[in-house]
Amino acid sequence: MTAALACKAVRGSGHHRSQAPLGGPYQFTPSPDRVTGILLHRFFSESPLTSDQACLVGVEAHHLLHVLRLGVGDGVILFDGEGAEFRARVEVAGRQKVELTIEQRIETDRELPFALTLGVALPKGDRQRWLVEKVTELGVSRIVPLHCERSVVQASRRPSQRLQRAVIEACKQCGRNCLTEIAPSQDFLEWAGRALPGTLRLFAHPEASQRIQELLSRELPAEVEIAIGPEGGFSPKEFAAARYAGWHPVNLGPRWLRVETAAVAAVSAVALGGV
Ligand code: SAM
Repeated sequence: MTAALACKAVRGSGHHRSQAPLGGPYQFTPSPDRVTGILLHRFFSESPLTSDQACLVGVEAHHLLHVLRLGVGDGVILFDGEGAEFRARVEVAGRQKVELTIEQRIETDRELPFALTLGVALPKGDRQRWLVEKVTELGVSRIVPLHCERSVVQASRRPSQRLQRAVIEACKQCGRNCLTEIAPSQDFLEWAGRALPGTLRLFAHPEASQRIQELLSRELPAEVEIAIGPEGGFSPKEFAAARYAGWHPVNLGPRWLRVETAAVAAVSAVALGGV
């Protein structure tokens, strides 16, 4: 799967989206799979959908055939992570493979009107998966797993299949047609130190005094980056480096949140317009 390349047309360019104010209100298009009141099941195609034929294998075929028990003649929605979705009908249902005919390409946009990157020192095990799933639902375009001085979990350089699967499941569930990219892990100081003019950079720190909503009312940036530290918090050196590189320290309330809660709170505040 090429999650890193998915939806390249709508993210990361720095000026790729409409200039709606941060935090909305956005124009949402009604979900076409709900227009008739019938919610069609969504499936992810690993292969680009470029003709009127499609084929599902592996986990997706299993989901369609053996979990949902769909069969010949049933209508579904397919997406390939490139931004559009497709109405399709099952033509052949094998034991491990499904062949479909694509009936309609539907251009929908359920993305945020700006690119949103989350740099985070990932927590352990299931909490990691939960975090990825929730921020994908909320519209994050890219996740950068961070190595921090106080990191307990050493993020592997390449994203695991498990996390990539969590992204696909979340996109199937929430209607996104662009996959959240999970970037290779990076050292926090290196990542935070890059010069990125035009990007609003928010550094979550319990001792900060500014709230996210105070920064959202200013001029719209093309991109927003959020940094969330590890269980032990950012070190004083990391805090100083982030300040020097132009990050805004932001506070998420008077309670110390776990990493995954802080990530979801900060992403929600930016995506939905303030907490
Ligand atoms: N004792 C740690 C500290 O002082 O940073 C708490 C670390 S917290 C479990 C993990 C990360 O979540 C922090 O590094 C920060 O990025 C974010 N975080 C948690 N609660 C926060 C809050 N109330 N305000 C801002 N950021 C918070």
